Amino acid sequence: MTTTFSSVFVSHGAPTLAVEPEPAHDFLAGLGTTLGRPRAVLCVSAHWETDQPALTANDRPATIHDFSGFPAELYALRYPAPGDGTLAARAAGLLAGASIEASLDATRGLDHGAWVPLSLVYPDAGVPVVQLSVQPHRDAAHHLAVGRALQPLRDEGVLVLGSGGATHNLGEVEWGDDPSPSVHVRDFERWLVAAVTSGSVDELVGWRERAPDAARIHPTTEHFMPLFVALGAAGASTRATVLHRSFAYRVLAMAAFAWPAA
Ligand code: ZN
Repeated sequence: MTTTFSSVFVSHGAPTLAVEPEPAHDFLAGLGTTLGRPRAVLCVSAHWETDQPALTANDRPATIHDFSGFPAELYALRYPAPGDGTLAARAAGLLAGASIEASLDATRGLDHGAWVPLSLVYPDAGVPVVQLSVQPHRDAAHHLAVGRALQPLRDEGVLVLGSGGATHNLGEVEWGDDPSPSVHVRDFERWLVAAVTSGSVDELVGWRERAPDAARIHPTTEHFMPLFVALGAAGASTRATVLHRSFAYRVLAMAAFAWPAA
């Protein structure tokens, strides 16, 4: 029997999350036990932006160190999970069935939006990973539709994992150990938790008008869009459970949510 997996959204914070024992690191290190072990992961990464949805179709995806100015140990990390070309093609087929054109990319590896959290969730790198891109020039409704098209994968033993940020204004980051959030970040995060736990899809899709300080919290939208893919993959079960809440660097909310299988 194949397990139906929750769809999940995690905030991946800074690349140092992979190695520093902050609360979200410890949470992710236990998440694999909480979720169980899927046949494969379809990971929607905020760090891959394309005109239309793209999927990695590489049997041996490289680890991409797509950041600069961080400690050398981060550049030495590798996450050698295999790819899954069959899953990539299946996902593209599901998207095509929803009139969403998607492409397969046989050369692209895994960026840190995927491998930083996955190196904690499934540290043995034994679960195949396919990465899916975001389209920040498109709105939340588009990403919701992408997720809805991919919902059947959850019944096929695939974990749909959105990896982005509950809040993400890097221009306001204050490096240090202060765990308290700025007031506007706290307020946005509270709005988000209320909306996802009540299953308010309209509220979430209308986030740019309805959420407090939305434009300041997400001056660009790429880190928020993976949440909508995960929400879409939840189908009719739109009420999420909160897996984790913490803050890093005053302005990065590290919230994580799961939409359990109905
Ligand atoms: Zn990021």
